[in-house]
Amino acid sequence: VPILTNIGCLATCASPAGQDDIGVIHDAAVAWRDGIITWVGPADRVPDEHAAGPVWNAGARLVTPGLVDCHTHLAFGGWRAGEFTSRISGASYAEIARRGGGIARTVRDTRALDERALADRAAAFAAGMVELGITAIECKSGYGLDVETELRLLRAYRRVADETRARIVPTFLGAHVVPAEYRDDREAYIGLLVEELLPRVRAEELAEFCDVFVEEGAFTPDEARTILGAARALGLGVKLHVDQLTDGGGAALAAELGATSADHLEHVSPAGIEALASAGVVAVTLPLATLYLDQDPPPARDLIEAGVAVAVATDFNPGTAPSYHLPLALLLACTRQRMTPSEALKGATRFAARALGREASWGAIEPGKAADLAVIDAPDVDQWLYHHRPNACVAVVAAGRVVWRMDRLGPAQPS
Ligand SMILES: [Zn+2]
Repeated sequence: VPILTNIGCLATCASPAGQDDIGVIHDAAVAWRDGIITWVGPADRVPDEHAAGPVWNAGARLVTPGLVDCHTHLAFGGWRAGEFTSRISGASYAEIARRGGGIARTVRDTRALDERALADRAAAFAAGMVELGITAIECKSGYGLDVETELRLLRAYRRVADETRARIVPTFLGAHVVPAEYRDDREAYIGLLVEELLPRVRAEELAEFCDVFVEEGAFTPDEARTILGAARALGLGVKLHVDQLTDGGGAALAAELGATSADHLEHVSPAGIEALASAGVVAVTLPLATLYLDQDPPPARDLIEAGVAVAVATDFNPGTAPSYHLPLALLLACTRQRMTPSEALKGATRFAARALGREASWGAIEPGKAADLAVIDAPDVDQWLYHHRPNACVAVVAAGRVVWRMDRLGPAQPS
């Protein structure tokens, strides 16, 4: 029975309600067996049967649940730094797309890579994320946009799950945009998704969720109904990219379709917020994408006040969010979305797990949940997100095993 003790501040996130309720226990300890937490409480009251195993000392630091990044596009070919620079110089997305850039560029670069190469790139990103305290990552396809490459991306994620310490939740995003070769026959592409790709994804059990990008220039609400209706009939969960660049009624659509999460929401309407609240859909906010696109942030305060669970994720992708730094996204959720550090943490743990249908096992530190833990070199959550550092995470436990420790822990930062 391993035990982690001398935890200065343990943020358990044990309560299913309350965006700011992170269930802090001071001077705490956590014990686990076979990767599952067996006991949580004050360090001076550890029961004898939990005091016999290897003991890890947190050095009076903060310990949080392993962070959950519930929205990424982890596997892709190439990068798009040239477009980043063009946009700074004034080029619009439409101009970049006309020159063959944007998603189309990444689709070309992705189709050129085999499964091994895609998995190696994604695994390298996942390893970097684990060092930041992330133990679970949702991973979308969507840069293949043909049968072979979409399946290849999802098979690459299966390799990443087998070959890294991160838990992977794969999502099929064949409906990212309509690929160039179907520009004049959208219906044929939707037919390909519904009649060929989705059944093959299901038969090989390659994805848990199906996602659709609902936006002008991507897919309409009616097209999303067709695609997600077919996905649901095959037993897949439903996610949506909605209301990112315009208010397209996407939040109401997510509620109507019983989606697990509605993601982006920079332009969500008051009616959309009410619909998310009454349907219990998790709102996934993506502050790094908002930052890179220099947009106004989604109305997180209105969402929280309406009773919507607000998650925070990176949206890591080579175009609009080329960073997988989830703690930086949490800082931006504080400063731009006016969420408190506690609210932001809940959004990257318990509520992020809810956005993946995994709240029963991930995202909280309580008996029966997975022993996924991040040791953070800060005395509490407020200090962690306020004093932003390249990496404040000093150790990570995943499925009960210490999978990463900073080489030289050194003394704690001055408090
Ligand atoms: Zn996305």
